[in-house]
Amino acid sequence: MKEIISDNYTVWIGDNSLSKLDVSSYSKVAILVDKNTKRDCLNKLPKLRYSTIIEIPSGEQNKTIANCNFIWNKLSEHHFDRNSLLINLGGGVIGDMGGFCASTYKRGIDFVQIPTTLLAMVDASIGGKLGVDFDGLKNQVGLFANPKSVLVNPEFLETLDRNQLVFGFVEVVKHALIADKDFWVELTKTNFHDLIWEEVIAHSITIKNKIVLSDHKEKGKRKKLNFGHTFGHAIESYYIQKGTPISHGQAIALGMLIESKMSNLTEIEKGEITTYILSNFTLPYNPAKNKLIQFLLNDKKNIVGKISFSLLEGIGNCSIDNLFSANEL
Ligand code: NAD
Repeated sequence: MKEIISDNYTVWIGDNSLSKLDVSSYSKVAILVDKNTKRDCLNKLPKLRYSTIIEIPSGEQNKTIANCNFIWNKLSEHHFDRNSLLINLGGGVIGDMGGFCASTYKRGIDFVQIPTTLLAMVDASIGGKLGVDFDGLKNQVGLFANPKSVLVNPEFLETLDRNQLVFGFVEVVKHALIADKDFWVELTKTNFHDLIWEEVIAHSITIKNKIVLSDHKEKGKRKKLNFGHTFGHAIESYYIQKGTPISHGQAIALGMLIESKMSNLTEIEKGEITTYILSNFTLPYNPAKNKLIQFLLNDKKNIVGKISFSLLEGIGNCSIDNLFSANEL
């Protein structure tokens, strides 16, 4: 089992990580699940006495204040006090929303993240960003707060839909590109089917953890994690508006293709990245830039009307706050 120390909490990674779930000091325990994690993941948890199961519908469309009301109601109804624990068993939706509900219920009760998708394991459960969508805007309401621990068991990936696995892997590739050239070389040499998840996940978490520890609230270095995400979010919004949504991972992979071309890389490095992304991910077409401008101009990362990019400075390094006007793109 691997152990990564974060900001006052530990991330445990491995098939035994769930043995680190210690609820003995809590007055009450609830487990937040959705339909899929209730079916596929709940039975892998150690048996906990007197725990309350709270089930919400699955999917991003349910990451809402209405579901927070439902969760807060359940906690109240079962007389959860400040010495209670909420265990979030699921993907990024459960983790973000459950963490938000726990950190606001009675001004904050403890929560443990047990991520069950690859994206949640390597990305969403690390770094303390919590929240829900609101008024049609993603993650519009939320806060930063840390869990008591994060328990990552790669065995959960066995029941995950293959597309969820593949597109969660996009964030692993991003972590390598922005911060670790050796990891990138290792990924490019290894067939997707031969990846050892425990190692890949631990490596990827180590990278994200180091970045967030250096900049908790995204004032500086944490912006490196936005590589691929400026064009990526615009592409995601374009497909939503068109009525044919694509996965977040697909959008970010397309974003990384464009933003690596804008980056300070040799032609050989650009070619290497393009070949790797195109051969590992099935992607839809890249919309013409003029179709994306309206979305880019509304990006919440923009600074004084300019569009802000995190770009590669060679593979394994990344610079932030690269500003472009719309007609410079
Ligand atoms: P998700 O939580 O919607 O999970 C995807 C689907 O997989 C769901 O239908 C879920 O029920 C199912 N599922 C989960 N685990 C399973 C398993 N082991 N077996 C079978 N089915 C399983 O999606 P996601 O991709 O995990 O997370 C996306 C969310 O994460 C977004 O809301 C995004 O904003 C958020 N996010 C947050 C951060 C952060 O820093 N907080 C970072 C990245 C993404």
